[in-house]
Amino acid sequence: MTKAPCTQLGTSAIIIIVFLSFSFNSCEKKDSDHPQQQQQNQPTMQKQFPAFDGKRSYEYLLAQTNFGPRNPNSEGHKKCLLYLESELKQSAETVILQRFSQKGYNEILRLTNVFAQFNINAPKRILLLAHWDTRPRGEEDPIPEKRNQPIIGANDGASGVAVLLELARILKSNPPPIGVDILLTDGEDYGDSRNDGNTDLYFLGARHFAKTKRPDYNPQFGILLDMVGDRDLRLPLEQNSMRFAPQLMDLIWTTAEENQVTSFIRVPGEAISDDHLSLNDAGIPTIDIIDFQYPHWHTQQDTPDKCSAQSLEAVGKVLSALIYTKLAK
Ligand SMILES: [Zn+2]
Repeated sequence: MTKAPCTQLGTSAIIIIVFLSFSFNSCEKKDSDHPQQQQQNQPTMQKQFPAFDGKRSYEYLLAQTNFGPRNPNSEGHKKCLLYLESELKQSAETVILQRFSQKGYNEILRLTNVFAQFNINAPKRILLLAHWDTRPRGEEDPIPEKRNQPIIGANDGASGVAVLLELARILKSNPPPIGVDILLTDGEDYGDSRNDGNTDLYFLGARHFAKTKRPDYNPQFGILLDMVGDRDLRLPLEQNSMRFAPQLMDLIWTTAEENQVTSFIRVPGEAISDDHLSLNDAGIPTIDIIDFQYPHWHTQQDTPDKCSAQSLEAVGKVLSALIYTKLAK
């Protein structure tokens, strides 16, 4: 995504590490393929939904960052694609690799979207997406010599995918009431707007998916996850999402509130240019769940230690509650 972060950030956001410790109510109680149901501190009317395992999700984050930078055409990119395909094939009913080429700055980019489907025959569907590529440069790094080096992208890249991989495991064990599609987009973060002043080389996978989708593929809505692993997770109301799908935003934030997930906050966020714009252009109302106030954005410091299992779990829990308690057949 391209918008510059708020300049007030500095060190204060680094220091305010939230001590989430182990008080999260669902963190320890499941480590099987049959997750227990979330027990909420609510009257018995509260519907139950499969528990989301933040620790396991964090393992999916590490599995990606262990490949190193995953920018297009890199070794880590090739290895990570094989990993994502293999992981999703263990859980989804179908996995489609959408390969395409695109002219980059001084190279031809070999890009691949990964598309996985669950409850494939359900006419009502939703689309969940995250970008899996990482940035070939870290132009925000405080050290000038490091700005041309590719970044690890623990939060900006791996975090959204990590949530969706754990969710995929849940969807296999707990058939959802509606169809769920997972799209891992490539080439989201390739562009260099600081140099060329435009966003033409961002969102490449989402654009390709939107451009080539079948006319009869019309999920009810889409939810994009981007930078959702920050230890100090705060998810405000992203403003393009509010413009495109305010009711969906309300549903998600209400679901978070009902389940005591306090990282979703009802304050206006920034307007972010991200993969969701291409899907909205294609007629799929799509929101972006994003914490853009991340001090390590587009730097070499975007590493796994800046992320937490608790943050991934907060987002995954809301998605599980949404799918299993809010969306009717
Ligand atoms: Zn980025």
